[in-house]
Amino acid sequence: MNKVKILILGAGPSGLVLGRCLHDRGEKDFLILEKEKEAGGLCRSLTVDGAPFDIGGGHFLDAKNRPVCDLLFRFLPEEEWNLYERDSRIRIHGMEISHPLEANLYQLPETIRNEYLESIRIAGCNTGEKMPERFTEWIRWKLGDRIAEDYMLPYNRKLFADTLNDLGTYWLHKLPNVSYEETLRSVREHQSYGTQPGHARFYYPKKYGYGEVFRRIAESIDNKVRYDSSVIFMDAGERLVRCADGSEYRADLIVTTIPWNSFETVGLSPDVKEGIKKLRSSSIETRYVQKSAGSKAHWLYIPDETLPYHRILCRENFAPGSRGYWVETRAERCGSYRDEEGGFAYMNEYAYPLNTIGKPMIMERLLKEAGKRKILGIGRWGKHSHDNSDTVMEAAMKLAVELMGNI
Ligand SMILES: Cc1cc2nc3c(=O)[nH]c(=O)nc-3n(C[C@H](O)[C@H](O)[C@H](O)COP(=O)(O)OP(=O)(O)OC[C@H]3O[C@@H](n4cnc5c(N)ncnc54)[C@H](O)[C@@H]3O)c2cc1C
Repeated sequence: MNKVKILILGAGPSGLVLGRCLHDRGEKDFLILEKEKEAGGLCRSLTVDGAPFDIGGGHFLDAKNRPVCDLLFRFLPEEEWNLYERDSRIRIHGMEISHPLEANLYQLPETIRNEYLESIRIAGCNTGEKMPERFTEWIRWKLGDRIAEDYMLPYNRKLFADTLNDLGTYWLHKLPNVSYEETLRSVREHQSYGTQPGHARFYYPKKYGYGEVFRRIAESIDNKVRYDSSVIFMDAGERLVRCADGSEYRADLIVTTIPWNSFETVGLSPDVKEGIKKLRSSSIETRYVQKSAGSKAHWLYIPDETLPYHRILCRENFAPGSRGYWVETRAERCGSYRDEEGGFAYMNEYAYPLNTIGKPMIMERLLKEAGKRKILGIGRWGKHSHDNSDTVMEAAMKLAVELMGNI
């Protein structure tokens, strides 16, 4: 039986940054268990066809999160990154329109532009209707039926399939927010208005994929990361964890960043365990294609349901000296595309934690009960929250400060 003060489950950005910040503050008694042979989680990168390929999907560092950028620049200095103004577009009506669509209607032919303007004008949010609780209904409420049918519903069906009808609206702060007045103004002045989505300015390494910075952080605390250690069991009452190879660990405090439904748990109430079973997520395949995407954008959203993938990452536009692109496809849609295109591909079993209507309540109960047993959940999976890497790293940095004051 191994004993440790702080046991961290998972060496993705959350677990690594927590470990590194504990180390910076002089904590020696911690260990990270990671099921893979390398660290970085969804933010790992490989070299494919001579250039970076982010296996978890296109990964960009949001430039507005200064504390996180500064931490990462300690390991991959700022001059080794390029800073870009986001250029993401939607392929629709045989052309490319800047994202978000409602702030860039001026780029559309006049007839469609007028139909889309009318769609927003008579949408529920502009006619005094109460905001609905379901995401699908919110789409119609916010953008109107025409834009919903042409773009938002097909795109989100590709991404979420049947779960789309179960998604809530509590996570929509992640989406751009453009009012009807701002849409009108952007049509008049031919420029985008409204709250922009995340990554309006982002960093991407000049010579590497995003994963390089996490490889370096892991290397800096190498003796604290135990690879090939897949957690299969946790006794929450005893704070005991067992891995697939039979090794066992007991800790004063456990911080988990791995999916709660990926291991067996005892020592939590039946209610909470039932809740864990209801947590949903989706799997995403990334696949390299050697051709040019034929676009100047950094990435493209693809609502066309006759194509399996929902996003194209035009790597030649953000990874200097590279060619080709990669696509992101929900696992269930890969089908024939897999055989047609060939090429390198990677399946991310746990890619998107899904924001179903009941999830906030499930997670609140789970984290409260686990917290009483000194088991904390952080990161994309510990909180089962669709967060970007800078958000989870910032939370891990804060937790390190709190822990050093309290343990
Ligand atoms: C398609 C896509 C695009 C994205 N784009 C961006 C972007 O552009 N910018 C951005 O900032 N963020 C982006 N993200 C989000 C980003 O990937 C996450 O915020 C980040 O990876 C979360 O880090 P984490 O450590 O919490 O989780 P993860 O990265 O998932 O790490 C969890 C770790 O736990 C390990 N693990 C899992 N199960 C076990 C087990 N049973 N035992 C031991 N170890 C285990 C995993 O191997 C992994 O190393 C994107 C995500 C996706 C899916």
